[in-house]
Amino acid sequence: MSNGDLLDVVCPLDGEVISQVHLSGRAAVDEAVKTANNAFEAWSGITLKERVQVFFKYKQLLEENMAELSALIHEENGKTISEAKAEVEKAVEITEFACSLPQIALGEIQEVSRGVECRSDRVPLGVVASISPFNFPAMVPNWTIPNAIALGNTMILKPSEQVPLSANRIAELLHDAGLPDGVFNIVHGGQEAVEAICDHPGIEAVTFVGSTKVAKIVYQRGTSNLKRVLALGGAKNHLIVLPDAHPEMAASNIAASMTGCAGQRCMAASVMVAVGESDHIVEKICAAAKTIIPGENLGSVISQAAKERIESYITAAEEQGAKVLVDGRRATVNGKGFYVGPTVIDNVKPNMKIASEEVFGPVLAIMRTDTVDEAIAIENGSDYGNAASVFTQSGKMARYVMEKASAGMVGVNIGVPVPREPFSFGGWNESKFGSGDITGKSSIDFWTKFKKTTIKWNPESRVNWMS
Ligand code: NAD
Repeated sequence: MSNGDLLDVVCPLDGEVISQVHLSGRAAVDEAVKTANNAFEAWSGITLKERVQVFFKYKQLLEENMAELSALIHEENGKTISEAKAEVEKAVEITEFACSLPQIALGEIQEVSRGVECRSDRVPLGVVASISPFNFPAMVPNWTIPNAIALGNTMILKPSEQVPLSANRIAELLHDAGLPDGVFNIVHGGQEAVEAICDHPGIEAVTFVGSTKVAKIVYQRGTSNLKRVLALGGAKNHLIVLPDAHPEMAASNIAASMTGCAGQRCMAASVMVAVGESDHIVEKICAAAKTIIPGENLGSVISQAAKERIESYITAAEEQGAKVLVDGRRATVNGKGFYVGPTVIDNVKPNMKIASEEVFGPVLAIMRTDTVDEAIAIENGSDYGNAASVFTQSGKMARYVMEKASAGMVGVNIGVPVPREPFSFGGWNESKFGSGDITGKSSIDFWTKFKKTTIKWNPESRVNWMS
């Protein structure tokens, strides 16, 4: 419920109000930009080697506070404690990468003519902003915080108003790690705060992670205000399963991929395209799905509205002739919470909404094809392009699908093909707008600009440095 500029923060596990968050607007963004701008000169004025010392300490604090942070994520997001812990562990991995930046974020130098050298140095951009979604309250903010700040920028984070508490704790840990005041700032809020960020002339670059609808708005509005923008959007990930796939391994991977974080992962399995005779694998997926129990090894979805939206996709598919093999509708835990149980739907046809739209719940839509090329055509036909996977024991077929898939992150016999650092994270098509990726080596280019300097040390006045 929104009360003036305050919004209730609701625990999705039981529907109880656990806090309130301010819905800030332009004035708060102005204030944060001023603070970040004041901190920029001193922060960017020390060396990268000095700046990463804060992140060595921050990594240690993330590890020391992992249990507490995981409990907070569990409470405000609804995912299980072990899923929450996994996202803090990913934040640790990204922080380790940031600690290695002095070894890899290098400039270049070359003697281009006798006594004349050209060098390029990486320079921070200034005040930058990061806008994050509800589904990873700690990991997604940390996709950007360590790299952007270690590279000398000062930052404003606009977390999802649905999960503001983990972000506050992250700010405390950064402070405890020794980050000077003003280098990292949080503006809580929703649409108005995001629009103010996109419009503010004092912000040089913006990253966004969330739905495709809003990613497009942020990309268009931010770039039209001449900012550097990278906007990651939604997903509809296809798993192409060939009949020779290892049945147990494929089934357990696919069930885990569709249900992990209650299906609220941009890397989750959404459509399984079963090629040829695959009933033996579908049966095992259903059996594996039935072992995933709400409140035990399955968390809740984020809100009552999300539960209703997800269940409406299942009902619509059923009404159009799809067969619900495992039905997760109407799940609760002790009569409470926004739960959807694992759901497996067979005979999904291309004209059904569930075949093409992002459901963002623990739901697997199975489509059947006779050939691998038909399966690839279905995957290629999606507007999205975050992830795709193939399950097979044939190296030749795996390579074929790998090459043809239209997705930024591809898996072979892996249901959630998230690249580990230093490989960068980012999709294709309507899953990402802007160039480069949000983590890894690719992010170094996003958070810096090059200064090119030509220096002449040759005392001869007539030396032709162009020669
Ligand atoms: P969302 O787009 O609703 O919200 C994301 C952010 O945008 C939030 O901070 C929110 O306050 C803000 N926002 C919401 N509506 C807005 C509007 N009209 N104008 C301006 N700002 C607005 O996304 P969500 O529901 O929080 O997260 C789920 C989505 O995020 C899914 O689509 C999922 O696939 C996607 N996601 C993508 C990735 C990726 O890497 N591609 C990663 C995580 C989540």
